[in-house]
Amino acid sequence: MALSEFELIARYFSHAGAPREDVALGVGDDCALLRPPAGQLLALTTDTMVDGVHFPHATRPGDLGHKALAVNLSDLAAMGAEPAWVTLALTLPAADPAWLEAFAGGFAALAREHGVALVGGDTTRGPLSVTVQAHGFVPPGQALTRGGARPGDLVYVTGTLGDAGLALLALRGEIRLPGPDLAAVRERLDRPRPRVGAGLALRGIASACIDISDGLAADLGHILEASGAGATLHLERLPVSATLAARLAAAGGWSLPLSGGDDYELCFTVPAARQGEAERALAAAGCPADRVGVIEAAPGLRCVTPEGDSVDAGRGGWQHFGG
Ligand code: ADP
Ligand code: MG
Repeated sequence: MALSEFELIARYFSHAGAPREDVALGVGDDCALLRPPAGQLLALTTDTMVDGVHFPHATRPGDLGHKALAVNLSDLAAMGAEPAWVTLALTLPAADPAWLEAFAGGFAALAREHGVALVGGDTTRGPLSVTVQAHGFVPPGQALTRGGARPGDLVYVTGTLGDAGLALLALRGEIRLPGPDLAAVRERLDRPRPRVGAGLALRGIASACIDISDGLAADLGHILEASGAGATLHLERLPVSATLAARLAAAGGWSLPLSGGDDYELCFTVPAARQGEAERALAAAGCPADRVGVIEAAPGLRCVTPEGDSVDAGRGGWQHFGG
């Protein structure tokens, strides 16, 4: 490598993200030294992104830097945790300064936006792969777990579903989109916006929550399994963008909003008595959300059309091994 490992770290990663008072020692020593706030739980999560598996090989480096952090902040959001610190383990085929500049720029901009500090990591040579570990805080008893949904609770999703899946179809040449529409859905695929504010707003209100990385059917399925419950989804209520709505049939009908992955919206449940409170909290957080179904005692996921027909959701989500 033209750049040594240590020059590379110093140049691109030693002061990335937001400065924070609770970082006693950041990048540069054998460990970071951090001050967790007294009385809060530490929420910890990690996600790896591998070239050609989690992102198309042609993904722009700035987008990859953004997305590798975004998917981890999305997990903190889904737990109702406030993001604080991240580490970055980067495996690179080569130390290309232009690539690193763009990658670090995308990563650092999102980190600053959320007040997150990059406090350490690892840098190795090999096939391109990015692993981020994210740390956040949540008061005891307020985390949004998957297991609290009860029959009668209302099922919500934030934002719109299926745009990232539509972008993948277009990039694979399976559907044709005009330039502006392609740009809009690519933005959803390449630069997902983690719903951190919504997760914080739902603390103490939502009975269960998950982020939609593998598709609504699969991820709601995890809530149902953990909660020992079932649900009915009303397909016509699934929120889709104007871009997807205009070509829903050509794009496989309900399969994209139900099973397209990579949206990084939140799916959450709310006891019916707290519906107003939940909707006001999300509106105050500036986050759109739609009520799409209801939790029921009978296990399984039922998807119904306005005509009363059932559609098989399958579990359809992305899995790496079998299934
Ligand atoms: P060690 O040999 O002790 O593991 P390294 O040489 O891997 O140390 O890393 C030196 C310092 O740089 C450490 O503080 C480490 O956390 C940090 N670091 C290495 N790679 C990265 C990276 N990609 N992003 C942020 N910090 C990094
Ligand atoms: Mg190391």
